[in-house]
Amino acid sequence: MKVLVINAGSSSLKYQLIEMDTQDVVAKGLCERIGIDGRISHKTEAGFKTEYDVSFPTHKEAFEELVKLLTEGENKVVENISEIKAIGHRVLHGSEKYKASTIVTDELIEDIGVKFRDLGPLHNPPQAVAMAACQEVFGKETPMVAVFDTSFHQTMPEKAYMFGIPYEYYEKYSIRRYGFHGTSHRFITKRYFEITGKDPEGTKLIICHLGNGSSLSAVKDGKVCDTSMGLTPLDGFVMGTRCGGIDPSVVTYVMDKEGLTPEQMSNLMNKKSGFLGISGISSDCRDLENAAAEGNHRAQLALDMFTYQIKKIAGGYAAAMGGVDAIIFTGGIGENSAAQRGEICSNMEYLGLSIGTELNNNASRKEAKFSTGDSKVEAWVIPTNEELMIAQDTVEIVFGK
Ligand code: ADP
Repeated sequence: MKVLVINAGSSSLKYQLIEMDTQDVVAKGLCERIGIDGRISHKTEAGFKTEYDVSFPTHKEAFEELVKLLTEGENKVVENISEIKAIGHRVLHGSEKYKASTIVTDELIEDIGVKFRDLGPLHNPPQAVAMAACQEVFGKETPMVAVFDTSFHQTMPEKAYMFGIPYEYYEKYSIRRYGFHGTSHRFITKRYFEITGKDPEGTKLIICHLGNGSSLSAVKDGKVCDTSMGLTPLDGFVMGTRCGGIDPSVVTYVMDKEGLTPEQMSNLMNKKSGFLGISGISSDCRDLENAAAEGNHRAQLALDMFTYQIKKIAGGYAAAMGGVDAIIFTGGIGENSAAQRGEICSNMEYLGLSIGTELNNNASRKEAKFSTGDSKVEAWVIPTNEELMIAQDTVEIVFGK
């Protein structure tokens, strides 16, 4: 059975067509510059690749073009659009209403695009538009499922998700910690228990999803009890271009001194901070590792802040859960950088964690345990696969398997 996975942005649309029996990606690609001009890049499992300009006034034309590539010409991957049995959509923010992946209905599209717009203003409206456009192109008879970045974190207790501001703002505006990367944290949790065969009941995990955007989660009994991202994906620790958690007074202070509007301040914290803002060089971890190796102090500082802040959050989660059984790394940095994993896991013997340098160096880009045999806490790399998780949810919800 083939399932299409869609990750839409305001001007882009990423897709993967997955054969569920083998978990193979049959075709994947990216529609870009939607509403500006338009460009599509597409490749298939069989090795066909193409990239060309095409007019995308809206998401609808992007879906039409991708249907053409999937169903027409000698490089088609399906004979007929009806071979695509279901479609899974990544959705940023489901507020408190969507605690699990849900069949797409008119009400859901309205909720995401209008009701919960302000909770994810950059993502939710275009994702609602994309779901509606997808229905137009594929027809309402093709079942669609929305998979939310926030839903896995909905198990957090009140004391973990509330902020210490007047309660009325929670009641009026639903301001609270939601957490993001939920699909990845859920995939890693599921994979960890599949690989180890352990019982989720009683097991305490710390999951480090480290990429351009990064978040940690504390998972006890298979359920999230805390996570580092907040109302938006800005909270936590320093990321590629985001500042992570800072003293809230910094916000009003800088706005006052620099005469910034809320939008400008948000832009500064989301796009100009983190690795980029501290190093002044790049938002990319590899660039910072290279610059630091050549003696660049600010590049090294940015990396030191990153690993130090993660260590503090991980230590806090171990304290909150009353211990930890495994710390798991995923995402571009978590899967690839032995240096950052090694630094985060250093001096954690107090927790019962000891890692092998050689084991760590050999753990990148695959499922691998890199803690030593006598370590009480396991350290793992488990590559994430959010698209597969979305496709699996879609099949489970639509076909009940
Ligand atoms: P996103 O959060 O956008 O999905 P990724 O999960 O792909 O991003 O992570 C991108 C980050 O991973 C970048 O900072 C990049 O430098 C880092 N990264 C990728 N490969 C390596 C590597 N070999 N060593 C260190 N960092 C890496």
